[in-house]
Amino acid sequence: MMALEKYRKKRKFSKTSEPEGKKKARSSKKPIFVVQKHDARNMHYDFRIEVEGVLKSWAVPKGPSLNPEEKRLAIETEDHPMDYADFEGVIPEGEYGGGTVMVWDKGTYKNIRAAKKDDGADMKKSYGDGKIEVWLEGEKLKGGYVLIKTDYQENSWLVKKIEDGEADKRLNPVNTKTKSIKS
Ligand code: MN
Repeated sequence: MMALEKYRKKRKFSKTSEPEGKKKARSSKKPIFVVQKHDARNMHYDFRIEVEGVLKSWAVPKGPSLNPEEKRLAIETEDHPMDYADFEGVIPEGEYGGGTVMVWDKGTYKNIRAAKKDDGADMKKSYGDGKIEVWLEGEKLKGGYVLIKTDYQENSWLVKKIEDGEADKRLNPVNTKTKSIKS
């Protein structure tokens, strides 16, 4: 799978317990998203969404917000294998991404911009257009989110909550909801 070459090149699987992504990606009826809290040299939240058998990934230093007025920087990183969505553990110090990874939120999503409303159809196009609008059904994050590619730096996107019934201007979920959804 060409898409995961970058992912594999960055890692030594003899040292890290992260998945190699060799298992065939299951084709889920509903595409998934995951947010992993990654306590690496710089703490951040990795936001990943399933697009055609891989997890498209962004590192969000401040984490996702429920406040539609807050745009958060999201730096695109390499595609991750599907089984990374369940990965929690400690990447050894000195290895790529060394630090603790925790599954902060996970669930399914719908592509709001898709012609077919019920799945991840047309996500590749939305991604290519640099404008992704998804409806998340997670345990912590729900409702619409938009990711927009910016042109002031390569790989730089912005992520923002869409103004909807799930938006909340006061609650900052990365401060109030700190537990893993797996524990
Ligand atoms: Mn990370």
